[in-house]
Amino acid sequence: MSYKTKAETLADAIPHTPVVRTYRCSGHGCPMPGAIFDNPGQLTGVCAYHYAANPSDWPRITQALTDWACVTDEINACRRIHTDPETATSPGTIARQFEAAVARLEPRVGTWWDQLKPQPGRGGRMDDYRSWGLRLDRFIGARVQAVTVTPRRRAA
Ligand SMILES: [Zn+2]
Repeated sequence: MSYKTKAETLADAIPHTPVVRTYRCSGHGCPMPGAIFDNPGQLTGVCAYHYAANPSDWPRITQALTDWACVTDEINACRRIHTDPETATSPGTIARQFEAAVARLEPRVGTWWDQLKPQPGRGGRMDDYRSWGLRLDRFIGARVQAVTVTPRRRAA
């Protein structure tokens, strides 16, 4: 058992000097936020698509993400609305933004709309904005997977 109180242990775990991080993924030209940091001193993070990918695949991954910018824009908009304190607690705003997002995306994706439109999920419940955002995320993940040549490195 530690001689420290739980509060002291938690305080030790918090960095004592503020770390200023940039929010863009460090994949050059990547449109996604860099939310994954491998170590505490790292100032730029990577997105989930670039994370653990072989560096030689990074340009292809960035290309896939920018080719599908209309979809990545909607993923980012969905995340922003669900994490911004102004909008995250307003079901009416979320519903209106969801409707607007669907209206923006449909005319831009042609026949891909069959895969990208809101639809019932595994439990049979129709997509809400959040689950639709995850559907778009999985779609982009599959596009990234398709252009990735080398296997992802495994976590240590
Ligand atoms: Zn990225």
